[in-house]
Amino acid sequence: MRVGQRGWDVAALQFLLSSRGYGPGAFDGGFGPNTDDAVRRFQQAAGLGGDGVAGSATLGALRRRQVSAAPDGPVRFLRPVSARIGDGFGWVAGRQHTGVDFLAGEGAPIGAAGRGVVAFADRTSGGYGNLVVVRHRLGFESWYAHLSGISAWVGEAVVGGSRIGSVGATGQATAPHLHFEVRQFGTPVDPVPRLLDITAARARRASRRGLVCRPNADAWNARDTDPAVARFGRCP
Ligand SMILES: [Zn+2]
Repeated sequence: MRVGQRGWDVAALQFLLSSRGYGPGAFDGGFGPNTDDAVRRFQQAAGLGGDGVAGSATLGALRRRQVSAAPDGPVRFLRPVSARIGDGFGWVAGRQHTGVDFLAGEGAPIGAAGRGVVAFADRTSGGYGNLVVVRHRLGFESWYAHLSGISAWVGEAVVGGSRIGSVGATGQATAPHLHFEVRQFGTPVDPVPRLLDITAARARRASRRGLVCRPNADAWNARDTDPAVARFGRCP
């Protein structure tokens, strides 16, 4: 790939560059000056010369670059639905998957994955279908796509477990599931390392009974943490 090309593979390259810290600024699928600059910066850092042409050596280096398994900071999320995960984050079937897919049935209740404010709650014309976005602290957002119904409104303050909608298959989805994304300062990140072993619904029921998850020591020690999405040392 080189300057002037367009397409999904260019968008995937842009995403890969961004996930390695060499963001081209946009995932628009167009190989313009910003993408050229990002490719050259990555190539120079990786000892690949820096000719701006994303060939097999550059793509290989981008894919090999390890992403830390243990995410920085204490922010963790509740599981928004009680279901196993099908397609994961990253390269799936030749394209970049920006979230994970929870294989829940039509109409299954979805709970907010943590404390925050609803930033978007409406149908979209793109692949997401009916979409809810919750803005959390520390630059995090959680996205919930393909919903059959939305029960949240923009500006609503939610806590972990607040009902925000129901699982569906709106947008580009062949069967009901919840496409769940976590974004950090606008960039999709793998949600799995940040997911707790407790569902949003269970945390909500526990808090109604007065049982509160206790954040573990590193959550207490870190500055500016939010117990509702921090890692829990002990949960009811
Ligand atoms: Zn998905």
